[in-house]
Amino acid sequence: MKIAKLNVLEIEVPLERGVYFSDEGFVESVNEHYKYLSRKNGTNETLEGSNDGCCTTRRWYDPISDMDRKNIHIFYLDFKNKRINDFIRAHEETHALENFERLDLLEREIEIKLGKRIDLNRIRGEVIADIGAIFKTGELDRRARLHPIFFGKRSYPEALRYLSE
Ligand SMILES: [Zn+2]
Repeated sequence: MKIAKLNVLEIEVPLERGVYFSDEGFVESVNEHYKYLSRKNGTNETLEGSNDGCCTTRRWYDPISDMDRKNIHIFYLDFKNKRINDFIRAHEETHALENFERLDLLEREIEIKLGKRIDLNRIRGEVIADIGAIFKTGELDRRARLHPIFFGKRSYPEALRYLSE
């Protein structure tokens, strides 16, 4: 069985047949890379706004094996700052975990390390992704936390609340 390695989350996910994972690393532009993947996939979708990273699922039919296949891709910008890069990467890896339908793996780790049971499936995607990122990058223990304005979204404080309440 193939395994997807989510490096910042330190979680390995066994993949079902026909499911693939590509961590494409740093890209120059998230929106351009999204467009590129979308063209390769025969669609013409684009991303709105400015994005630090992305997790996208591409589906196609493979006539040779008569199977539906899907590939979950993640990619992100290089901020030349390990702390920020790890945060963004863990955020995208958590989106991937959700797409693999294996959020239980993260729930289990949170329960072991923090003694908290969080039902991630009941939380919206952006908050789940920040929960994974905050949990795995040590943001919980830091006095000077990453400023949510930096990420241009409001999910960070909400995610922090789930982990610290
Ligand atoms: Zn996200």
